Amino acid sequence: MAVALVSGGVAYTVEERERDARDRPVATQTPTQTATPSRTATAVAARRVEVDTILLRRAQAVQTGNEALFLTDVDPANKKLIAAQKVLFANLVEIGFQEIGYSQAEERFNAAVMKAHGRTTYLVRVLMRYQIPQVDVAPVTTELGYTFINRAGRWVLTDDDDLDTDLGPGAHQEAWDLGRIEVLRGPRVLVAVEKGDTKRGRAIVTEATEGLAEVSSYWPRKWRGSVFVIALDESEVRDARFADEDIESAASAGSTFSSLPGADTADGTVAGAYIVINPNERDRVDEILLSHEITHVATADLGGYEPLWLAEGAAEYVSWRGIEAISGPGEVGKWEQEVIDDAMPTLSALPTDAGFYQNSADVYGVSWLAVRYLVQRIGLDHVEELYEDLAMHGTDQASRDRILLSRSGLTEATLWTSLQSYRPQR
Ligand SMILES: [Zn+2]
Repeated sequence: MAVALVSGGVAYTVEERERDARDRPVATQTPTQTATPSRTATAVAARRVEVDTILLRRAQAVQTGNEALFLTDVDPANKKLIAAQKVLFANLVEIGFQEIGYSQAEERFNAAVMKAHGRTTYLVRVLMRYQIPQVDVAPVTTELGYTFINRAGRWVLTDDDDLDTDLGPGAHQEAWDLGRIEVLRGPRVLVAVEKGDTKRGRAIVTEATEGLAEVSSYWPRKWRGSVFVIALDESEVRDARFADEDIESAASAGSTFSSLPGADTADGTVAGAYIVINPNERDRVDEILLSHEITHVATADLGGYEPLWLAEGAAEYVSWRGIEAISGPGEVGKWEQEVIDDAMPTLSALPTDAGFYQNSADVYGVSWLAVRYLVQRIGLDHVEELYEDLAMHGTDQASRDRILLSRSGLTEATLWTSLQSYRPQR
């Protein structure tokens, strides 16, 4: 028998549903039931199909701009959730996804959630797979946790945050999850701000466009993507947590994943990155800050295995080239000398990945100096090739050493000693 439910690319055969059902704990099963699925297994399989249908309906609602359809399966008794879902829906439509879909991952058991919502509670990890035009070169995945209950024979969504603390970093904290947003657009730029914060949004589009031009000018990799900048009045957006930082940063670039960490591989597959602005720094967003972050975005899809001194050094390199273009070589030379005189003596080696962002020494300055030195030694194009190789293959220290040595003639140790005696050409 090959009965298949096919709906918008989601296909479950009866066999697959039964396999899913068997994976789940079954309350009681008498020996006479072994030949046919138990009533519980059948109910679990039916629930899976019904919830799939709900998820499909929600995705269709976003694609067709149909709010009523989006709210059809939301628990009518939960007014707070309905209000929040209206905001979510408006945000999702505003983003303008090229592709959006939800699928059930595994069921999660939580006694407190079960107690709160009753015996029909179905708490499930949900994967949201989507693609923002131009921004995401391929579909990417983010996680959610949905709580469904059965009301009079019908499954409804009754909560959307019961699983949040058990999900990966940044889950359910995407730009569209946090209150009503407004999206501003430039040719290769998308900016999300609080609804009504239009003026700031436009200003950030302008700065990001200039930052993008700098990255194109000063970093040889030909990257054609678009930049997504999120500047909300929130200290926790995606995996950016500005509130509990020791050393406050103005912005961060956080990865997007075509395959989440732990799904196919431990590290996942990085597809790109979005920029999140510290809410306290939203008034000071300029092309210098953004050219640094956009350098991260324009190199994110390479793999992300490059050492942090190279990632941050390259981003600083691009951003300082931009400053040099505006104010001439004087300021850059002065800053370079300060790093040599003041920052270098506070370190005894190249900054390591571990503790990089907690380091009170000027690790950004030293990383920048290392990249400046490498550019002088092997040329910018070769530094960019070195970056690509390390980002793709620098999965452990031995690989990093081998790549760095073969492409620059240096190890991290000899690069450090070279930096100690480095006197820049003026
Ligand atoms: Zn950075």
